[in-house]
Amino acid sequence: MPAPLFPLFIDLRDRRVLVVGGGAVARRKIDALLASGARVVVGAPALEPSVATLVAEGRIEHIAGRFDPNWLNDAWLVVAATDNPIINRAVCTAAEARRVWANVVDDASLSSVQVPSRVERGPLQVAISSGGGAPMLARHLRERLERELDESLGDLAGLLDRERERIRQRFPEIGARRRFFDALLAGPVPSHLRRGDHGAAQAAFDAALATDASPARGSVALVGAGPGDPGLLTLRGLRVLNEADVILHDRLVSDEVLALARRDADRIEVGKQVGGDHDATQARIHALLVEHARAGKRVVRLKGGDPFVFGRGGEELDVLHAHGIDFEVVPGITAAVACAAYAGVPLTHREHAQSVRFVTALGRDGSDPVDWPALARERQTLAFYMGVSGLAHLRDQLIAHGRAPGTPFALVENGTRADQRVVTGTLDTLPEAAARHAVKAPALLILGEVAASAEALHWFGPQPLRLDSPARREPTMAEAA
Ligand code: SAH
Repeated sequence: MPAPLFPLFIDLRDRRVLVVGGGAVARRKIDALLASGARVVVGAPALEPSVATLVAEGRIEHIAGRFDPNWLNDAWLVVAATDNPIINRAVCTAAEARRVWANVVDDASLSSVQVPSRVERGPLQVAISSGGGAPMLARHLRERLERELDESLGDLAGLLDRERERIRQRFPEIGARRRFFDALLAGPVPSHLRRGDHGAAQAAFDAALATDASPARGSVALVGAGPGDPGLLTLRGLRVLNEADVILHDRLVSDEVLALARRDADRIEVGKQVGGDHDATQARIHALLVEHARAGKRVVRLKGGDPFVFGRGGEELDVLHAHGIDFEVVPGITAAVACAAYAGVPLTHREHAQSVRFVTALGRDGSDPVDWPALARERQTLAFYMGVSGLAHLRDQLIAHGRAPGTPFALVENGTRADQRVVTGTLDTLPEAAARHAVKAPALLILGEVAASAEALHWFGPQPLRLDSPARREPTMAEAA
């Protein structure tokens, strides 16, 4: 993959732009350049009538003749719009030598700048580029945006532009201003504009501006980020992430999900390190939540999966409640539900599994708080949230308490992520199968009759691995032990 293009919006007002070529293609480019206020000079031996008219009207300048590199003198930008590839190339070479940006119409490979597909709503522009590699895809997306973006967005952008100074004076502080915008956009102004009622829109705007902005009141949203695939974040979670001032996130939260958050939000990783002091980490999280919310920030506490499933989310709410801080909770898709789906394992089954249990806290610090006799009962699916080191103990206990050694399992590593792997087999050889394929955290174990369907219903990522599948990755000594 080549490095991506750097997007820019250029102010061409009163800047000299050379267009080489005087035909229909050149004409389209000239129109677009004139609309941006550029001072257009067209260089060509001959001009088609409509271009000649522009020259006659004094709206553009004409240099007659074959391309000469000196035409580039004083130009900020050149557009090569001839149907002659040799001339287009000569234009680019000369432009490169003079450090003038060059665009060749319909030839991304020669161009040092490319013109994006765009959607315009008044002063609001959405520009789309595929880097020249997939122009049809960019066009498809453009058509979609054309459908989705309401025409009145242009009026809205215009209104905000006109009122910019008043808004700034009313709310000099950026946080207050942002809250004003959020409230404004959620309020009646956009719908008045959609109906074309500019008077009502202006009145609603004036009313919103006059409303006393209450002093910044911090809050915390406890948000479930889901298991990793960003498509599994909820819309509510996405909106809250878009409004966040500060994001406190676990290590388990994927980069793809974090990439969806507001760009200028402060991101603080508060993940628990393996072998670290979890209580100290938790105390620090509590302190950070309170500190930032008290400072008037909109804090998002972003957790892997669902915040209330083995996430200590309840403890965090207790702290917020005790400090009188506003909070909300946005659920996420928990690992068991997500991994089951992405491994083709229905968690319940009319005959084999009438209940599902989400289980954790296996063998940490040597303690074993698990009710093994209850777990060993048949006709239920078990979903274990745990590290892979406790698997032998788990197998031994379940079999000792009566669960059939032949009970199927599906062990899902990095569930829903691009590097998801699934190991399947039966309970009696679970730890061996996991060791053979060097399964690492995060991994979720699904145990029960339903796990057998992972073979047939597998649809995401590579085929499930079995004890006798060739090991693709050498286990380290520690893992093998
Ligand atoms: N609140 C989280 C769970 C946190 S406990 C949730 O609702 O999902 C951490 C455990 O979750 C890990 O040890 C692992 O067993 C499981 N887990 C989380 N994300 C996972 C993923 N993408 N794939 C497999 N297991 C995952």
